[in-house]
Amino acid sequence: MHEGAILKSVFDIANNSRINANINDVQKVKLVVGKLHHIVFQVMQMYFNIMKFEIIGFDNAVLEIIEREPIIRCNRCGNTVILEEANFTCQVCNSHDTKLVQGDEMYIESLEGN
Ligand SMILES: [Zn+2]
Repeated sequence: MHEGAILKSVFDIANNSRINANINDVQKVKLVVGKLHHIVFQVMQMYFNIMKFEIIGFDNAVLEIIEREPIIRCNRCGNTVILEEANFTCQVCNSHDTKLVQGDEMYIESLEGN
């Protein structure tokens, strides 16, 4: 259950953005999360809806989560594939020389409000 800890830092960053952007009433926080973080969406929403009342300007905010599939790229043949399981082998040429190019990110894409 690391969703609460994640949201704490999300709120820290979001609140800094809110102040910098002169937003008094945040309507929406758009969060991009890679699937490798294994976030439970319902738990995130639950924590968000509790924690938002502790921070000025977020009472009316809703959380929108944009999930990113984990994708690996093969360094040998350039193939990219969605990582279905913990199998980092290239499906085209069987090379083990692959790199994760998407799926472990986490950032606030945007903050909407007045
Ligand atoms: Zn390959």
